[in-house]
Formats: sequence, C-alpha cells, structure tokens
Amino acid sequence: MSNGELFDLKGKVAVVTGGNGGLGRGIALGLARAGAAVAVLGRTEAKNNAVLQELREAGVPCTAVALDLTRRDDLAPAFEAVEAKLGAVDILVNNAGNVSLSGGIMNEADADWDNVIATHLHATFLLSKIAARGMLSRRAGKIINIGSMYSFFGSGLIPSYSAAKGAIIQLTKSMAIEFAPGNVQVNAIAPGWFETEMTAPVKTMPAMHNEIMLRTPAGRWGQAEELAGAAVFLASRASDFVTGTTVVVDGGYSIR
Ligand code: NDP
Repeated sequence: MSNGELFDLKGKVAVVTGGNGGLGRGIALGLARAGAAVAVLGRTEAKNNAVLQELREAGVPCTAVALDLTRRDDLAPAFEAVEAKLGAVDILVNNAGNVSLSGGIMNEADADWDNVIATHLHATFLLSKIAARGMLSRRAGKIINIGSMYSFFGSGLIPSYSAAKGAIIQLTKSMAIEFAPGNVQVNAIAPGWFETEMTAPVKTMPAMHNEIMLRTPAGRWGQAEELAGAAVFLASRASDFVTGTTVVVDGGYSIR
C-alpha cells in the first residue's frame, strides 16, 4: 500500500461537530481534502453554510445540520439526517465546545457548569454511542475526541472546561477498550493554543498572551489547519493499530 493510500479517505463519511468553528473548520477541510464526504454540525446556520461552501470547493459531498448539541433528543435525528444524505458514518469528530470564564468554582453559575459539561462531555458520550452502533455492526470506524491542554491541567479560571476536558480523555480510553474488538478506534487530540473565536479573549489579556508565547517552544500560536494532519492520521487506516491515545498538537507547550 502506498503512503497516499494509507491516508486516503475517499469513500468515507465524516461528521465533525462544531465543524463551522475555528478548529472544527480546519479539521473538516483537512478530512475533505483527504477525500472524505463531510457533515458539519453546529448551531449557527450562516456559519454552517460558509463552511459548506469551502467543502464544496474541495470537491466532496457535504452537508450541514443546524442543531444545539445540548438538546439530547435532537442528536439521533441529526445523525440520521446525515446518513440519509451522505451514507453510513465512518468517522466522528467530537469537536464542538464552549468555555465559561467563571474565574473559579465558587464563581461558576450552576447553569454554566451544566452547559459546558453538556456541550463537551455529554454530547461526546451520546453522539459516540449513536455512531458506534453502525460502526461496530460494520466492524470499522474512527472516533476522534478533541481534548485540550486542560485535559491534563486544572484551572482556576475555567474549572468546568478543565473538568470536561479531563473526562473526555478517560472517556476516550473507555470507549477504546470497549470498541477495539469491533475494530473501531477511539483517540483524542489535545490542541495547545490556537487562534480561534474561543481564545479571542486571551488576546485582550497581554500578560497571558505573552506568557503563552514564551512558554510555547515553537514561539507562536497554532493555526487551525495545523490540526488537519493529526485528524487525517487518526481518521485513516494509517492509525488502525492506534487506539485510546491522545495526540498532542501544541508546539511543545506541554513539555515544560
Ligand atoms: P470556536 O469557538 O471557534 O468553535 C466552537 C464550535 O463549537 C463552533 O463551531 C460552534 O458552533 C460549536 N458549538 C458550540 N456550542 C455548541 C452547541 N451547544 N451545539 C452545537 N455546536 C456548538 O472554538 P475552537 O474551534 O477553538 O474550539 C473547538 C474545540 O477545540 C473545542 O472543543 C475546544 O475546547 C477545543 N480546543 C480549542 C483550543 C484553542 O486554542 N482554540 C485549545 C484546545 C482545545 P455554533 O456556535 O454555530 O454552535
């Protein structure tokens, strides 16, 4: 098998949650350029449509469903709509996320905690369960969960985010154990600091922004398209014997 074939996603169908946002868009386009048909799930129709335009330009079949991932009853119908349009889903990327800048547990509103945990953790659990049914019956599939540096660190600023991201790594390992006999691989990607809408507030905090640059051996923030390589690897047959692990894409931020 040539290296090209190893990473070829032609004929595969991928779902990317939050595929209309910063990192999700980078991942969706990366998978599309490797040949996959792509569905993006996100709340905002206009943002979904903008990414669809780019996916069409990549020459792959694509679709979008506008939905709020915290509304659990909407998940199965959205998934069914994708499969009706593109065919059986081979690759699920649980990427959608939000953050509550509460400044600490004692400041965190219960509703914000619930929303962050629901968006990251509950949605990952529920959608993976829906997707895995078909994947396991076909004995093939890839699930990729997006973690964070805060999967490994606690945080005085964003405690619910850190709790959700830590749990996503353990959920990834548990799913990997359970699904491996069915030939479904489950892995995570832990991005470092990337310039997106989510991290835009950091730009307004010069001390923190500078500290991140200084601590990152690469000396810069990441760009969304720099996640595409890890995503294509974990979505392709190149990673068929890789499961339960986390690929860190952080310019070295976590190594010191
Ligand atoms: P963005 O804010 O750019 O994108 C977030 C995406 O999630 C959007 O597409 C948004 O779409 C979607 N989303 C949010 N809430 C919901 C919801 N309730 N239902 C459906 N979709 C939702 O953030 P990033 O691209 O930066 O973040 C993507 C992932 O990467 C997140 O999981 C984040 O935690 C993680 N991450 C980001 C890092 C960074 O430096 N940027 C670092 C480490 C991890 P819409 O608003 O239309 O619903």
